[in-house]
Amino acid sequence: LSRHVLQLVPDVGRAYPHGAPLLVSGRTARVVIDSALGVTLPPHDGFLLSHFHEDHVVGVASSGLPARVHAADLAATTSWSGFQASSGYTSPAWRDLVLGDFGWTPVERATALDLDEPIDLGGVRVVPIPLPGHTPGHTGYLVEPDGMLYLGDVDLSSFGPYYGDAGSSLADTERSLDVVADVPARVWATFHHKGSTSSRSTFESSLAAHRAVVGRRSEALRQLLHEGPAGPVDARALVGRGVVYRPGTAPPWGAEGELRMIQQHLHQMGVPHVRS
Ligand SMILES: [Zn+2]
Repeated sequence: LSRHVLQLVPDVGRAYPHGAPLLVSGRTARVVIDSALGVTLPPHDGFLLSHFHEDHVVGVASSGLPARVHAADLAATTSWSGFQASSGYTSPAWRDLVLGDFGWTPVERATALDLDEPIDLGGVRVVPIPLPGHTPGHTGYLVEPDGMLYLGDVDLSSFGPYYGDAGSSLADTERSLDVVADVPARVWATFHHKGSTSSRSTFESSLAAHRAVVGRRSEALRQLLHEGPAGPVDARALVGRGVVYRPGTAPPWGAEGELRMIQQHLHQMGVPHVRS
């Protein structure tokens, strides 16, 4: 991606459940940012994590290496009870996916990032950029002097931002989209989907399209509310009707996430609704 950064893309591509970690090499140390299924990591000294999600921490626990994550995602990284609480899913299919397919295990050694202290790799600095919303501690990393901004799961996808966890926040997600636009970067990379670009105009148009999905979800809700009965809205009745997932395309646990996303839109729109 840049002089000191290599992106490790699996043969199967980087759509969930897969993704593409980064290797950042300085004169004195090498770190890997995130981990992924189907990626063999070269020798390195430790991990920086963008957030606690199962697809980003594959093999981190068993590596025995140090790992750092934002303090707000630390409990969800180091314990199953924390992981469940911040995720919020109750579906057995979700549990099987995380514990079975991903082989999730707690990264008990993980410690909190020091946000005031860039990570010094010898001639290369990695600066944590908090981008909360997707998860409370979601964090991007700016690698200097390369000007390479790793966006984690601010993935610039046409699906739009995901804020369906119990710990997610739509308001924080929107603020984080403002933050990434203002970082003085020259190369941008995501874990999933878009991959990387060194063109600011390509980055800006992807970001604008990604962000526009938030408005389209509100618009879809307005349309459904217009068609629905008068009185307080039951958000559960709006799930599965195309607001987040095209009908029939949601994963088995998707309804839980879609409900939480719809509730946040209704709250933002000032629509009174029954809380479930
Ligand atoms: Zn994620």
